[in-house]
Amino acid sequence: MAVNYLCKVCRGHLNVKNSIILSATNLGDRREKGLVLLNPKIGNYTKTTHPTFSIKEGVEYIYTCPICGAQLNSMKYLHMVRILMIDETGREFNIYFSGIGGEKCTYKIRENIIEEKSGPDVRIYDKYFEVPEEDRKYL
Ligand SMILES: [Zn+2]
Repeated sequence: MAVNYLCKVCRGHLNVKNSIILSATNLGDRREKGLVLLNPKIGNYTKTTHPTFSIKEGVEYIYTCPICGAQLNSMKYLHMVRILMIDETGREFNIYFSGIGGEKCTYKIRENIIEEKSGPDVRIYDKYFEVPEEDRKYL
C-alpha cells in the first residue's frame, strides 16, 4: 500500500501520480487562483504550477480541496494548512505545512505527537506544536 494524502473534509484522494494536487488562492490584492502540485515526499518543497500562476514569496494562500472545495487552512494554527496522510501501514497523520509562499516547513503529527518535522521554517511554528500537554488547553 502506498502513502496517500486525503482532504481533511471529504477524505478524497489528493495525490495523483507523483503529486498532491491542491487549489490555491492568493490573499494579495489580485486574488489569483490556480492549481498547485506538491511533491508528496516530506521535505521536498518543489511546487509546480501552470506558467500563468505562481506562488509568490511572503504572500499567504488559501488552499482548497480540488474535489470538494473545502478550505484546508487550519482554523486552529494561523498560517498552517492541514491535510491527512495515510501511510503504508494504514496509520493516519495530520500533515501541516505553511500557507505562506516560500516558507518551508512540514509537520507530521499523530495524536498531538510530532512524528516528523522538516524545513528551515519550523522554528517559526514550533511554538504551535511543542507545547506541554497540560498547557494545550489554553491554546
Ligand atoms: Zn475535499
